[in-house]
Amino acid sequence: MHEIAIRITKRNHNAFVHLLGALESQGFDLSDLLITKDFKEILKSRPKVILYSFFTEEIWEIKDEIKLLREKFNPLLIAGGYHATAMPKHTLNVLGFDIAVIGEGEEVIYHLLLTLRKNGFKISRELSKIRGLAFYVGEKFVFTGFAKVEDFWHFPPYPEGLRLIAPIEISRGCPFGCYYCQTPYVKGFRMRHRPIDQIVKYSRRMKDMRYITPNAFAYGSPGAILKPNKLEALLKALQPLRKEGRRLYYGTFPSEVRPEFVLPKTLELVVKYADNRRLAIGAQSGDDAMLKAMHRLHRVEHVRRAVEYMLEYGFEPVVDFIVGLPNESVESQRRSIELMKWIMRKGGKVRAHYFMPLPGTPWARCKSSPLSREMEKFLGRMAAKGKIEGSWGNQIILSKRLQKLIEEFYEEPISYVNHAVRVTCESA
Ligand code: SF4
Repeated sequence: MHEIAIRITKRNHNAFVHLLGALESQGFDLSDLLITKDFKEILKSRPKVILYSFFTEEIWEIKDEIKLLREKFNPLLIAGGYHATAMPKHTLNVLGFDIAVIGEGEEVIYHLLLTLRKNGFKISRELSKIRGLAFYVGEKFVFTGFAKVEDFWHFPPYPEGLRLIAPIEISRGCPFGCYYCQTPYVKGFRMRHRPIDQIVKYSRRMKDMRYITPNAFAYGSPGAILKPNKLEALLKALQPLRKEGRRLYYGTFPSEVRPEFVLPKTLELVVKYADNRRLAIGAQSGDDAMLKAMHRLHRVEHVRRAVEYMLEYGFEPVVDFIVGLPNESVESQRRSIELMKWIMRKGGKVRAHYFMPLPGTPWARCKSSPLSREMEKFLGRMAAKGKIEGSWGNQIILSKRLQKLIEEFYEEPISYVNHAVRVTCESA
């Protein structure tokens, strides 16, 4: 019988694989854990503690599970991930968790599980010594500080003792601070990198070598500049593994690259050292004023240049857009349509997403804009032809739900940065 269960889902799989590696490396015996994707197994096994990790977009399903668990056997429930970090009070008061983990979880969950085990799985004052937690003692809300893991690479990307594998997180943090994105506020503005020897060592377990990073071409740099030598050193070091039959995917799923980093010198490296002939970039808008408003720090010309270079070097460009951005006019949307059309004419793929306000970001309290008739028709037509991918339709509904949630339960963001998150919905 297991006392502690880990609730794995499709979306938290990679995060938990890494956290389990971190737990194991600190000396936690993973055989003590029930690690399962099967909620029924948790219900059957009735553990004393269950760990969850989720995004705000998932809270409605999570809430139903929590309700059922409370009715069936009332375990201690711990939540981590982006939602718990950005909205701990909502996580505790409304979703019904007992403890929220705030920030980067590698060290927190180790100390938390040890302390809980020692104290019979009860919330005790001792928990206030662990940084990165929010919980209630009686009526009193206790927040122990934001948990930061500066050198995340001190922890392996996955556990040695379990047959679990996920793309390796090679870099963490992002200096760009796009207003809609949670990454810098949860992982920090400075990019840190897993050392090359470790990436090589752990890549051996993968048949297809894939990596998690906010910007694959920024490997080795503080984030905003290119360090081609460092990037090449990494890709070169992975070549013996390729020769043994593994394939190397770089700058594509599950990561992407920023458009201004797509240059002949970076593309030459991918041609020479990697197996993918697709690259994913974020354009987000075809209107420079919108790019400025969302703090993307690149312009439309960088997207066009990146697409041209990718085609020249034999890559299929996969380009992400966000439609329905705050204060996006019909004219701005027309500019995005023009850019999408241009990309498709050139042979690239477009992925369209609808703007979703995420807690903890500067745009958390901003309203999405309605799609113009022209945009609606264009996306519908292109999707029917299989030329545009993306789930903007469902996201329109989800965006409204998120907006309502944030309006109702707004919390001042707790974040990695020491100053308050600047909330702004003004156009550029
Ligand atoms: S969207 Fe990408 S570039 Fe912008 S802040 Fe997030 S991770 Fe960084």
